[in-house]
Amino acid sequence: MGSTTSGPARTVYRGDVGYDEARRATMWNANVPDRYPGRIVQATCVADVMAAVRKAKASDESVSVRSGGHSWSGNHVRDGGVLIDLSRLTSFSIDKATMSATVEPGLGGSVLLAALMREGLFFPVGHCRGVGLGGYLLQGGFGWNGRAYGPACASVMAIDYVDADGELRHASDTENSDMLWAARGSGPGFFGVVVKFHLRLYARPRFIGTAAVQYSVDRLEDVVRWMGEIGPDVPSEVELQFVVSRNPSFPPRLRKYNRTSPVRIEIAAPVMTSSRSAAKAALSFLESRPRGSRRRLPLLPVPLSAAFGAVMQHYPNSTNWTTDNLWTHAGPDELLSHVQRIADTLPPPPAHFLWLNWAPTHTLGDMAYSVEDRTYLALYGGWSDPRDATSTPAWARDNVAAMESLSTGIQFADDPGRPARGISLAAQARLDALRATQDPQGRFHRWIGEA
Ligand SMILES: Cc1cc2nc3c(=O)[nH]c(=O)nc-3n(C[C@H](O)[C@H](O)[C@H](O)COP(=O)(O)OP(=O)(O)OC[C@H]3O[C@@H](n4cnc5c(N)ncnc54)[C@H](O)[C@@H]3O)c2cc1C
Repeated sequence: MGSTTSGPARTVYRGDVGYDEARRATMWNANVPDRYPGRIVQATCVADVMAAVRKAKASDESVSVRSGGHSWSGNHVRDGGVLIDLSRLTSFSIDKATMSATVEPGLGGSVLLAALMREGLFFPVGHCRGVGLGGYLLQGGFGWNGRAYGPACASVMAIDYVDADGELRHASDTENSDMLWAARGSGPGFFGVVVKFHLRLYARPRFIGTAAVQYSVDRLEDVVRWMGEIGPDVPSEVELQFVVSRNPSFPPRLRKYNRTSPVRIEIAAPVMTSSRSAAKAALSFLESRPRGSRRRLPLLPVPLSAAFGAVMQHYPNSTNWTTDNLWTHAGPDELLSHVQRIADTLPPPPAHFLWLNWAPTHTLGDMAYSVEDRTYLALYGGWSDPRDATSTPAWARDNVAAMESLSTGIQFADDPGRPARGISLAAQARLDALRATQDPQGRFHRWIGEA
């Protein structure tokens, strides 16, 4: 299904007419860094990727890789060397009999999920349209119903990749298994170009729905205390979260927001189960929610397109973004003053703050992905008005810096591009040792945030 056009790759060199347009087009974030690759190879097939890496090797150049271009930090936009753009590699195939799929890295997760759902199948792709499976699967992958399946990288069974010599290789549990280990979670620190992922699929949950409750910001303390208390007991098929923003997702008229719109807290509880009654039971904890809500959305079945739409309204295109984040197991007493400050200083929309109840119930296998915790906090500093160009990034950065002592690490998903721990120290040591054997010349860039 789908098709990847094959043909000679277009290469755009620095200095060419259209170079800067091509460079900017590799990023979804309008906040494009002042870094300039020597050339951009727009690959259309695996042979293009092999040729690009071989050429880089022959001329001793560095390589960076881009699939869907949703890295917030622009990790792939580096000075000099070659940037391999895989966004045209979008083919995929689904095998219902073996509950497996193969996907190319430029494919959007939402496109894959729509095709799977038509077949009665499911995969925990990310919550936004446009996110490429390449970067998403490598960094961990926190997708729809992700608490039930664990990080999406745990469902990557094998990869095909182009190594530092430009050779096409396969990695599975029985072949080049260390590279599969690395591909499951090293994210922007992976040293190779993944050209195909082999995925384990799941049965489509029979009921997909959501419930939501909205509060004024003066109820923040009650919400934080309730989330902290209830979080660990929330069933794994519920992605309980709250967002503090000026642009809540319901009712639709509130989507017409501006910089003086009131700050709202929106608790959302997407749920995927075998039946509506099972969903109702899974959401019974909502009965204990703080009183005094402004509005409530009772449990409703939701087509996934509407669910994507509700999330996407927080992430408008052509917006500048600076993000920062932390995992934490701190409780409400420790977090409350920080969350209060985040809300009190919330920049104009679409900047927003997310509290996600991850509360893992899965056991982590042996993979590079190794840092997660009970609660995930992310600050999405989005701005389009030049007046906010300094204060909004500072809001994201400074508030996370103030919580440093409560942080147990970060998600590469919301890559802040600063020194931080995205995988455990043991996993980092193993990754570094593997890199030394697989990419001894350091052809592939390390993660941009590595100190
Ligand atoms: C609006 C928005 C919503 C998001 N929602 C979610 C979400 O719900 N859940 C979640 O988990 N994450 C989410 N993310 C984060 C997203 O998953 C990561 O930024 C991810 O890296 C994006 O993948 P990509 O291929 O689009 O990005 P890219 O920018 O193309 O890739 C990111 C990095 O991954 C590496 N890489 C990418 N492809 C390859 C490859 N084929 N081979 C080797 N290395 C490669 C490169 O180092 C690259 O710099 C979201 C991001 C945005 C901007």
